[in-house]
Amino acid sequence: MSDHIRLHIPGPVEVSPGTYEAMAAPMIGHRSKDFVRLYDDIHPRLQSLMGTTQPVFLSTSSAWGVMEGAIRNLVNKKVLCCCSGAFSDKWVDVAARCGKNAEALQYEWGTPIDPADIDAKLATGEFDVVTFIHNETSTGVMNPLAEVAAVVNKYDDVLLVTDTVSSFTVVPIEFDKLGIDVLLTGSQKAFALPPGLAIFSVSEAAFERAAAMEDRGYYFDFIEFRKNQEKSMTPSTPCIATIYGLRHQLDVIFEEGVENRFARHEKLNDMVHDWVRANGFEFFAPEGFRSKSLTCLANNKGIDVAKLGQIMREEHSLAIDGGYGKIKGTTFRLSNMGDETEETIGNLLTALDDSLAKL
Ligand SMILES: *Cc1c(COP(=O)(O)O)cnc(C)c1O
Repeated sequence: MSDHIRLHIPGPVEVSPGTYEAMAAPMIGHRSKDFVRLYDDIHPRLQSLMGTTQPVFLSTSSAWGVMEGAIRNLVNKKVLCCCSGAFSDKWVDVAARCGKNAEALQYEWGTPIDPADIDAKLATGEFDVVTFIHNETSTGVMNPLAEVAAVVNKYDDVLLVTDTVSSFTVVPIEFDKLGIDVLLTGSQKAFALPPGLAIFSVSEAAFERAAAMEDRGYYFDFIEFRKNQEKSMTPSTPCIATIYGLRHQLDVIFEEGVENRFARHEKLNDMVHDWVRANGFEFFAPEGFRSKSLTCLANNKGIDVAKLGQIMREEHSLAIDGGYGKIKGTTFRLSNMGDETEETIGNLLTALDDSLAKL
């Protein structure tokens, strides 16, 4: 079989030949007019995808850079971290390592966040920031973003930081309408780009908080990002090749049509869900809260997940994920985000049929 292992793990996801080709364009100076043209070309399209008139920033880091940055820019009193999986749990630890007061609103992995619990916590008046992960990639749970935003918006001095790393461009997310204060995503998930670029936006209230914040550092300073974006630039030398890739993917996204893209993700996710049911597996996430970008299967049949992954890789050149952290082996995950098609997801499911039969 070929050396190319096609990725169906929930990030990084498969990158198309067209994207690689776009990334191979000649290098330009990051203080040149060419870069200004590049940023100006993508910026309005990023604003449109985020549903915002606020500036959209390009951070040469993985998503965690901006997740930590949001803590450093915004937390004065105490941050409430909504925790229900590997990524959301880690945010409490990151906040503590930044020297901030942080409290976990802890759920069992696989349980969706309940906005009423956030309301009760914020009513104490102790908190000034909430961290929230829209799509908890480790468990395949999609949390109720609009309901959570509505609760946080009842509290004028509380800012909502939302990670949409594995849901952005999969389902509609309206930054301005929902009243989100920081929205961030990463290149290697649904954008189907190589890793290394985080994309984020910041509300006026969050800029105000940041401007008065001491010790917010340099690399992820929101005010520094805003100053540079006004000139269509970034604070330091960005990963220009990945930004070429982003420009290409924006062409692809708007050519397909954003609504069609959402519908395609839903359709492909449904295909995976049908396969799960047809094969007697269960979902780790409860009905009504299942991600549209990936599926986390509960290994209720007690199969050898590592072996399944090995057969998929060795005989079909496909990579699936054998479960994250403490639910490794008791769950496994299949991604349908990015540039996937009915054909590629069909191939994935056929290969799974074959591999299951060989266990
Ligand atoms: C992948 C992922 C991250 C981490 O992204 P990095 O790019 O590794 O920093 C954070 N949050 C969610 C929900 C993710 O899926």
